[in-house]
This record gives sequence, structure tokens and C-alpha cells, in this order.
Amino acid sequence: TIINNNGTVLADSLSDTSKMENHSDRREIVDALSKGTGYDIRLSDTLKTNMLYAAVRFGSEAYNNIGVARISEDLAIIKDAKDTLHQVFLIAGLFSLLIALIISFILSKNIVNPIQEMSRIAEKYARGELTHKLGIRNIPGDEIDNLANALNTMSLELHHNMQELSSEKSKLQSILDKTDDGLLVVDNESKIRMANPAASRILGTGNRNINGMTIIECTLSIDLAEMVERVFRTKQPASLEVQLLNPPQVYLNVYTAAIELPEGITGAIVVMHDITESKVMDSIRRDFVANVSHELRTPLASIRAMAETISLRGRKNPAMTEEFASKIINEADRLVAISDDLLDLSKIEAGRRSTGAEIFPLTEIVESVQSQLSQKASSKSIEINVDVSNDIRVRADKDSVHQILTNLIDNAIKYTPVGGKILISALYDENVVKVSIADTGVGIPQSDLPRIFERFYRVDKARSRESGGTGLGLSIVKHLVEGHGGTITVNSILNRGSVFTFTLTPGDLSNT
Ligand code: ADP
Repeated sequence: TIINNNGTVLADSLSDTSKMENHSDRREIVDALSKGTGYDIRLSDTLKTNMLYAAVRFGSEAYNNIGVARISEDLAIIKDAKDTLHQVFLIAGLFSLLIALIISFILSKNIVNPIQEMSRIAEKYARGELTHKLGIRNIPGDEIDNLANALNTMSLELHHNMQELSSEKSKLQSILDKTDDGLLVVDNESKIRMANPAASRILGTGNRNINGMTIIECTLSIDLAEMVERVFRTKQPASLEVQLLNPPQVYLNVYTAAIELPEGITGAIVVMHDITESKVMDSIRRDFVANVSHELRTPLASIRAMAETISLRGRKNPAMTEEFASKIINEADRLVAISDDLLDLSKIEAGRRSTGAEIFPLTEIVESVQSQLSQKASSKSIEINVDVSNDIRVRADKDSVHQILTNLIDNAIKYTPVGGKILISALYDENVVKVSIADTGVGIPQSDLPRIFERFYRVDKARSRESGGTGLGLSIVKHLVEGHGGTITVNSILNRGSVFTFTLTPGDLSNT
């Protein structure tokens, strides 16, 4: 539409201008005349449809030929164009989304997935599962491959180091487990942080958990606790002999040293060497020397007294001289017997006695001992019965069995009153031969039974001495029996009799 500056329509490409009204009030015309351009959307009076109008001013004020050129378009067409545009955008959007999805799929396959895999494996490494390996894609110059390679090398080295550490740890653990000495590691508050099995055994704590207990709580030893405190103060190692209250009568040689690290003293180690056995042996040795001296002193004192009497008054009293001389001979015999027994005992203890084992019928030795002691028995009218079958054979040292039987049967004769009976019997019993010597003698009080095998232990000293006993016979028997791997027991009823039973190894196991 061409309109002049009064709003009169001069020309129109669609309608008859004569029928068209003045356009000076139309918004797009007003705007075009005043500003140069103008737009509007409204229902067209002429065409009766929603129209888009766009107007532009033309001409020049100088020539007074200003007018407005306007174009109009049915909005339906524009809407169509807009819809077409929407479709294009939608397709383009979907297409872009598809491309984005494809790109993200490729990215996730190449970068995100391997990284997720790495973080999963790294978590496993953190849990100590170092044997897992990352896959390598073998793409030259690929950073993910480099990272995976680095992680694989790291896990391999870690695995190797961990294995070395754990093998060192188990070596150390087995040394600590196998060692006979007790070892405690305490922190600087004297609380136990580690104890080996020997420490639990020595301290008698059994399966109780002593970790976290202080030294004094666990050992009840003030000496030990003070020793550890002193080591913390002085930083100097120390050793001390300690007697425990619980378990009682346990003696330890304790060595303590501080554990010093660059950051300072973090605790101490306490090494405990159990010396109870050597302490006991020391005391047995001391007792033994005292006993031997005492045993020798008595006969020596009486020999001296009798010899003195003979030398003073012997010439005037020949009968007394004769009596004392025979007593001196008796005492000297006793001394010889004691020294013989002591010599035997020390030989047996030192393992120097011949223990050449041979297989022989037990009756052989029983008969020999019986005939050797028969006179002694018959002098007291004691009847010796033997119930040993000829087929019982034993594997042992003949001399030892001879001495065992001699000592036991001799005792049975000594401690059985006139007219008593002795029974020597033997039988196979669960892989051993059990030999018993039973008598109808004086018996042994129950309270004395546990000590009867100790050296110089005698129930009735006077009676033993009277019968020429040394107090060493049973001790020798016990050593010999145990030297053969056997055991010896005694049952006794006071004034009724005693039964000594010992075991020997059968000569032929098929007989058992
Ligand atoms: P001894 O030389 O005194 O006989 P032993 O060591 O042979 O020494 O015996 C130790 C003690 O055991 C004896 O003094 C005696 O009191 C007691 N005894 C040993 N055998 C018997 C027995 N068969 N009957 C009673 N008491 C016995």
C-alpha cells in the first residue's frame, strides 16, 4: 500500500483504493511518519483476517513528497513459517542430542569407564587386595594406559613389599613363639602391648588376655615394675633376679631395655629367663651336701668315740674292746655302703652307668636275686614266693634290673617282721611289663609316701640304720627305672604291708 503523508491511500496491490478509508490513524503509518518505520498486527478491515503490517517512510521533506510504503502479510502464512521453523529446530535439536549422546558414549567408553574401573581397583588396593590388575588398551601415547600401567606397577611393588613384610613378621613371630624365654613389650605407661607364649607360661596367665594390663597388675611384682620404671628414667638397660609371688616359687632372670626411637622412648622390652629349675637344683645340691655330711658324721662320730674308749680303757677290758671293735666294723661297713650307693647314684645321674639294653627272660634275674637274698630271708623266716611266668621277656640293662630287684626285695626283707611273706609277680599290661614286690611288713604311713624316693629319706631312721640301710636304695631304684623309660609307684598300709610296682619295656611287643 502506498500512502501519502495525509493518510490517503494512493495505491494498493490488492484492494481498490477508492473504497479504502484514510489510513492516518493506523499505528504503523503513525509510527512510520514520525519515526521512519512502524509495525502492527490487527484484524484487517479490508481483508477481515489477522494481518502483520510493516510500514516505511519514503521521500524527502524538502520536496514535500513524503509518503509511506506498507506491506502486509496474512499472519496465517507467518504462523506456517514459524511452525516450519519449529520443526526444523526440533529436528536439529534431536539431531544434536543424538550426536551429544554418541559423543558422550564414546567419551565414557574411553575415559570415564577406565577411570571408574581404576577407582574401583584403587579401593581394593586400599583394602589390601593387591593382586587385581588393570586392563591395558595398548593405545600408543594414551594417558589412561599410562595411568593404568603406573597403578599396576605400584600394586606389584606394594604386593611384593607386603609379602616381604609379612614373611619378616612371621619369621619374627615364629622366633618369639618358639623361644623359651618370656618376652613382653610394654608402652611408656608400663602397659603390656605384646607377650609371647613363653611369657604367658612363665607368668602363669594361661589363655587370659594380658594386653593392656600394667606390669604390676600382671606380675604382682614390685621389683619388676620398679625395674621398668628405672629403665624409662635412666634409659640404661638393666638385669635383675626376681622371685614371683604368683605363680609362687618361680625365679626369673629379667633383662629390660628401653625402646628408643627418633621421637623418643616409646616403651621397653622385658626378657624373662626362667631360672627356677637351676635354683631348685642349687637348693637340692645344698641339701644333698648337708645330708651327706650329716650321714657321714654320725657313723664317724661313733667310730671316733668307740676308738677313743678302746684306746683309753681297752687294755683293761678286752670284752668291751671286742664289742666296740665289731661295732666299729659295722659303722665302717655302713660308711662303705653309703659311699658305694652315692657312687652308684652319681654314676646313674651322670648317665655313665652301662644301660646296654638286651632282651632276656625276667625270671633269670628274679631267680638270681632270690637265691642271693634267700639266706637273709630265711634268717627271718620270711617266705619268698615268685609268680613270674617264664615267657615274660624284657628289654633292659641286666645289671640295672638286678639292682632294682635287689634293692626292693632287700627292703621288703628289712621292713617285714619275722615270719612274714614276700611275693614277686610280673604281668604284661598295656605295652609294658609290670613288676610288683609285695610284702606283709611294717608298711609306710600315707604322709611319708610322697617323699619315700628322696635321697636319705627314711621313715624310721633308727630302724633303717639298725638294718644297715643308707636311705639311698629307693632313690637309686627310681633313677634306674626312669632311666629305662619306666615308672615306679608304691601302695602301702601301715602295719599290713607295702607293694612297690615298676614298669619295664617288654622284650617282644607281640606278647602284649
Ligand atoms: P634304706 O636304706 O633306709 O632302706 P631306702 O631308700 O631303700 O633306704 O628306703 C627309704 C625308706 O623307705 C626306708 O628307710 C623305709 O623307711 C621305707 N621303706 C622302703 N621299703 C620299704 C618296705 N618294703 N616296707 C616298709 N618301708 C619301706
